[in-house]
Amino acid sequence: MPRNRTVKDYIRTIVDFPHEGIMFRDVTTLFADARGFRMAIDQMLHPYAGERIDKVVGLEARGFILGGAVAHQLSVGFVPIRKKGKLPGTTISQEYQLEYGEAIVEIHDDAIQAGEKILLVDDLLATGGTAEAGIKLIERLGGEIVGCAFVVDLPDLGGRKKLEEMGMDVHALCA
Ligand code: 5GP
Repeated sequence: MPRNRTVKDYIRTIVDFPHEGIMFRDVTTLFADARGFRMAIDQMLHPYAGERIDKVVGLEARGFILGGAVAHQLSVGFVPIRKKGKLPGTTISQEYQLEYGEAIVEIHDDAIQAGEKILLVDDLLATGGTAEAGIKLIERLGGEIVGCAFVVDLPDLGGRKKLEEMGMDVHALCA
C-alpha cells in the first residue's frame, strides 16, 4: 500500500447492506488502521484549531468512536447522543424522520451547560436527519455548536444543505 493514502482510501463500500440497493460506506476499515484512524481524527479537528471547544458530542454509534478520540485529542469531555431508552439518567428526546417511519434520540439533560461550545461528530452525513436531531438536542440545552464534523458526506442526499440552512458549519473529509 502507498504511504500517501487519503482517508477515503481506507473506507470500503459494501454492496446491498443493510438492504438491497444500498451501498454502505464501511468505516471499520478506517478505524482499524493506525495511520488511517490518526489521519481522520487530525483532519476532523484541523478547521477548529485555536477555537474554543468545551465538549465533543458524538452520535450513536460510530460517532462515539470518532468523538471519543477527538475529545481526547482536545482534552475536553465527551457526551453521547443515543437511541431512545439507552441512557440511564434523565434525558430530553428528539424525534426525526427515517426513510420508513421515525426514530428518537436522547441526551442526558445535564450533559451540556448553557453557553458551552460544542463540536458535533459522526461518521457519515446522508439526509442529515440524525445530525439535525442532535443539533436540536444540543441547542435545547443551550449549547452553542461550533461545527459539525463527519468523515463522509454524501451531498446528493441533501444533509449538508439542510445543516447549512440551519446555520451550521459542516466539515467532511471525503464524499
Ligand atoms: P442521515 O440521518 O444523515 O440520513 O444518516 C446518517 C446516519 O446514518 C449516521 O449516524 C450514519 O452513521 C448512518 N449511516 C447511514 N448510511 C451510512 C453508510 O453508508 N455508512 C455508515 N458508516 N453509516 C451510515
